[in-house]
Amino acid sequence: MKTNLLDFDLDGLVAWCQAQGEKKFRAVQLFRWIHQKGVADFSAMTDLAQSLRQTLLDKAEVRALPVLSRHDSADGTIKWMFDVGQGNAIETVFIPEADRGTLCVSSQAGCAVGCPFCSTGAQGFSRNLSTAEILAQLWFAETTLRQALGTDERVISNVVMMGMGEPLQNYNALVPALQTMLDDHAYGLSRRRVTVSTSGVVPMIERLSHDCPVALAVSLHAPDDALRDRLVPLNLKYPLAELLQACRDYLAFAPRDFITFEYCMLEGVNDSDAHAQALVALVRPPLSEPLPCKFNLIPFNPFPASGLLRSSSERVKAFAAVLSSAGIVTTVRKTRGDDIAAACGQLAGDVQDRTDVAGRRAKTIQIHA
Ligand code: SAH
Ligand code: SF4
Repeated sequence: MKTNLLDFDLDGLVAWCQAQGEKKFRAVQLFRWIHQKGVADFSAMTDLAQSLRQTLLDKAEVRALPVLSRHDSADGTIKWMFDVGQGNAIETVFIPEADRGTLCVSSQAGCAVGCPFCSTGAQGFSRNLSTAEILAQLWFAETTLRQALGTDERVISNVVMMGMGEPLQNYNALVPALQTMLDDHAYGLSRRRVTVSTSGVVPMIERLSHDCPVALAVSLHAPDDALRDRLVPLNLKYPLAELLQACRDYLAFAPRDFITFEYCMLEGVNDSDAHAQALVALVRPPLSEPLPCKFNLIPFNPFPASGLLRSSSERVKAFAAVLSSAGIVTTVRKTRGDDIAAACGQLAGDVQDRTDVAGRRAKTIQIHA
């Protein structure tokens, strides 16, 4: 099979070009054609030497992912489902706002962490995406949107790794994809506009701080280990004390001076005032420095097999008030694209559902216990 050039960050493309006997600056030109201009057709890359264009035609391609479906929401949100082979699908969501365009990108087909409130987790783990499959989502969305809008200007200003999968469990493919998002010869996004969301893979948070310190969002969902063990099973391996220390350490490298904590609001499970007070105590410990952070409360997006319910908006407000009155900046995530099921994992779940319904019910009962 031909080499997919979407698999390379700039260093990787330089190495590949050098192996073809080409100079480094040719790789820079090629990188700009692919990612800055969104061109996949080598014969249109007019400033490349004819001999290089022939080499490229023989040996390489810019291979995006086949689109299985596209859904457009009334609010402008667009959700694509891509085929990644063997019955697996992943999804990518574009969320337009007045001052930005955010792309929500997937990192894995399925997810091994298995959070019981997440339909991606309910599908089980299929496989890691390659760098090319991660970047193809951005490449395709950016080129498609630019064409539709008839513009050469950048449409996607922010990327969040909040689609399907746990990005820090696919570290080796993730980092070159992030590097390419940041590269001035490619998408040129600033580090504060690229966010990795993680359920808390502690050693990889540390590695990310050295390799590519983009903005960090941590999926907290519970104020104590007993509850978090059940809601985010990775907590059994990396408990809260270790996770919060990793967050503190990350701040020295982070592009922002706070960590974002995501907290999915589940009725009767993690949404009481007492839970909110316990969160305050967790990030503002009486005997040590407060942990600079913001909270993003996510109203749970229900799916049938979960057996869980979304907290009422009154409950979410009251919960947010406890955090805010302790001086913690707290936002409630707007639900976007509700009419097209644009939440984490919902659509791809229709294609391949590995849910062990009986097992999931058992887990659900445990959570309510
Ligand atoms: N695996 C990473 C990133 C992908 S999930 C992580 O867990 O952080 C992105 C965010 O969506 C996470 O905060 C996750 O907890 C949340 N999420 C997953 N399923 C959800 C659901 N059904 N309703 C609301 N938020 C959900
Ligand atoms: Fe995986 Fe994140 Fe879903 Fe948990 S919430 S199962 S870590 S994708």
